[in-house]
Amino acid sequence: MTYPLVIIGGGLAGLIAALEMARAGIRVLVIERKSYPHHKVCGEYISNEVRPYLHSLGFMPEEFSSAELTQFRFTSPKGSVLDHPLDLGGFGLSRYTMDEALYKLALRAGVEFLVNTSVTEVEFRDTFFEIKTSDNQAFRAQIVHGAFGKRTRLDKQLNRKFMAKESPYVGVKYHIRGNFDRQRISLHNFENGYCGMSAIEDDKFCLCYLTERNMVRKYGSISALETNILSQNPHLKNIFEEAEFLYQKPEVINEISFEPKSCVENHILMAGDSAGLITPLCGNGMAMAIRAAFLLSQELVRYFKVHHSRALLEKSYETAWQKEFSRRLTIGRTVQKLFGRKVLSELALHFFTLTPPLLHQVIKSTHGRVMSVPTIYTGS
Ligand SMILES: Cc1cc2nc3c(=O)[nH]c(=O)nc-3n(C[C@H](O)[C@H](O)[C@H](O)COP(=O)(O)OP(=O)(O)OC[C@H]3O[C@@H](n4cnc5c(N)ncnc54)[C@H](O)[C@@H]3O)c2cc1C
Repeated sequence: MTYPLVIIGGGLAGLIAALEMARAGIRVLVIERKSYPHHKVCGEYISNEVRPYLHSLGFMPEEFSSAELTQFRFTSPKGSVLDHPLDLGGFGLSRYTMDEALYKLALRAGVEFLVNTSVTEVEFRDTFFEIKTSDNQAFRAQIVHGAFGKRTRLDKQLNRKFMAKESPYVGVKYHIRGNFDRQRISLHNFENGYCGMSAIEDDKFCLCYLTERNMVRKYGSISALETNILSQNPHLKNIFEEAEFLYQKPEVINEISFEPKSCVENHILMAGDSAGLITPLCGNGMAMAIRAAFLLSQELVRYFKVHHSRALLEKSYETAWQKEFSRRLTIGRTVQKLFGRKVLSELALHFFTLTPPLLHQVIKSTHGRVMSVPTIYTGS
C-alpha cells in the first residue's frame, strides 16, 4: 500500500501532525507500537504555551478535569525550599488520557492507524520510502515523519549517532493520591537526580523522577533507592510515607539520552523527542513536541499543495526547527548540571532565592512564546 505520508509513532508529535494533515486533506497512516490508552514515563505537566493551539484542534484539557498549575517549588536534597510563581503556568493531565483523546480526535478526522505494530525498517529509495513492520507488512510512502520518541530500535537501524553513546539516565513514574497542593509543580532534588510532582485529573498526582542507572544498581532496586536516597529529602520522604500509590509497580524507562540529534535524517523528518529531548526539569518536552509537529505540518502542507522539492522541504524544516528549539535544548542541558548534585543544587537554590529575576529568566528561556492560534497554509 502506498501513502503520501506515513508517521512512525503515535505519541504527541505524531498525533498532532496526523491531525493537521487530516485537516489539510492529506492522506496519512500512523503506525504505533502500542494500543491506546497506555501509560508513559512523563511528568505530565503541560506548559500553557500550547493550550490555545490544543483548543484550536478541538482538544480541551479542561473537559478531562485537568489541574491548573500556577506555582513552582524547588527543594534541595536537604529540604531547603524556594517558591516562585509560574508566569505562564500550565495544566496537569495524564498521558493515558491525553494521548487517547488526541487519538480519537485523529480517528474522527480520518487519520488511518495501525496500532500494536512496530516499524522495524525504513529505507529511502531515491523517490520514496519502503517501510517494514513487526507483523511483516510493507508500505510505501512519499514522505516519512519520524515521531518515535526518545529511543527505539529503529534509531539503531537508521545508524543514528546518539545511539553510539551509552546514556546513564533512568526515568520512573507513579500516579499517587494524597493531601498535597494541587496548584503547585514541585521539583525535589536528591543525590544524582530530581523528582517532579504535580496534580493531574481525578484528584491524582503524577510523581516522576530522573536518576542515573548506577544509583539503582548501587542500592539493588528502585524501592531501596527511594528509601535510602530519595527519602533523604524530607519533602520526598513525606510523599513516600503519606501518599497512596496507585500502580502495582512503577513505569520505568532506561537509556534516556539528551544528546543532540538531527531533525532530518536519511530524509526522515523528525519531531518531538526523536529530533531532540529537552531535560525534563524544564517541564516542556510535550509543548516542544506539539510545536515541532505544527512546524513540520506547515512545511508538509506546502510540500504537498505547492509541490515543493524534497530538498526545499528538508532545508526549510531544518531551519525552522533550529531557530525554534536549538537554544532551548542547550540551556536545558546546561541547567540540568546544577541539579541532583548535593552542594551545587543547594547553592543554586540560595543563589536563585537572592536573585528571583534570574530564575524567572531561566524558566523563560527554556520555554517558548504562547503559540498563537495558527492557520496552516492550505494552498487555496
Ligand atoms: C522522566 C521524564 C519526565 C518528563 N516530564 C515532562 C513534563 O512534566 N512535561 C513535559 O512537557 N515533558 C516532560 N517530559 C518529556 C515528554 O515526555 C516528551 O518530550 C514527549 O513525550 C515527547 O513526545 P513524542 O511524541 O516525541 O514522543 P512519545 O510521546 O514518547 O511518542 C513516541 C511514540 O512512538 C512509539 N514508537 C516508538 N518506536 C516505534 C516504532 N518503531 N514503531 C512504531 N511506534 C513506535 C511509542 O510507542 C510512542 O507512543 C519528560 C520526560 C522524561 C524522560
